[in-house]
Amino acid sequence: MTHAVKFHPGLMLLEQYVEGSLSADVALAVSAHIDLCPHCQQLSKDITNDQAAVLAEQAVIERDSSQEWQQMLDFITNQPRSAGADSQRSALPQLASVTVNGKTFEIPRALARLAEKQNKWLHLGGIATAKLPTADKQHVSLLYIDKGTEVPNHTHLGLEMTLVLAGKIVDENGEYGVGDLLINSPDDTHTPRTLADEDCLCLSVLSAPLKFNKGLTRLLNPLQQFFY
Ligand SMILES: [Zn+2]
Repeated sequence: MTHAVKFHPGLMLLEQYVEGSLSADVALAVSAHIDLCPHCQQLSKDITNDQAAVLAEQAVIERDSSQEWQQMLDFITNQPRSAGADSQRSALPQLASVTVNGKTFEIPRALARLAEKQNKWLHLGGIATAKLPTADKQHVSLLYIDKGTEVPNHTHLGLEMTLVLAGKIVDENGEYGVGDLLINSPDDTHTPRTLADEDCLCLSVLSAPLKFNKGLTRLLNPLQQFFY
């Protein structure tokens, strides 16, 4: 049951997350990863404490603006995560789930409210996506991949973040299980697929459309729109 998470957001990404300087959609992926990853739960707490300590030090130096620093300190310690992902968190139910292809999957609390408002599933071959209505203009969706299915080879015009919520994904670089966060930059090309006997549910955040490399471009064009 317990899967050891192997792929984490980088330290800089976690720091920006704690500071609240990430876009809401990227913060959502990080927040959902943290829900699934005890290691990053601890790390983000440590970063929060470090940042509070730095602010407290500055406050000693700038005693005159004591009210201001207290407000900042309160802000950091009370709101360790970005506002977009965190302001809704306290009111969320403990568990949330989505159903696709006749199967029900548990999803992290960070996604619960959005998943309630998900658009309908669009199916194409063994793949299905459901857009999540976030405020940012990035593209956040749940991505379901049936067992034994390959996503066509593609590169990324922007950042692609994929968080595995259930099952496993394999690509040229390794195998990813529940909680693993894949971050692909415009330089990366990959062909993710599922195992022969297990389907997979992911959270996908795209900052720009995918570009498919192989095969008949005209055939793949609908797929590109489908993912974007
Ligand atoms: Zn982690």
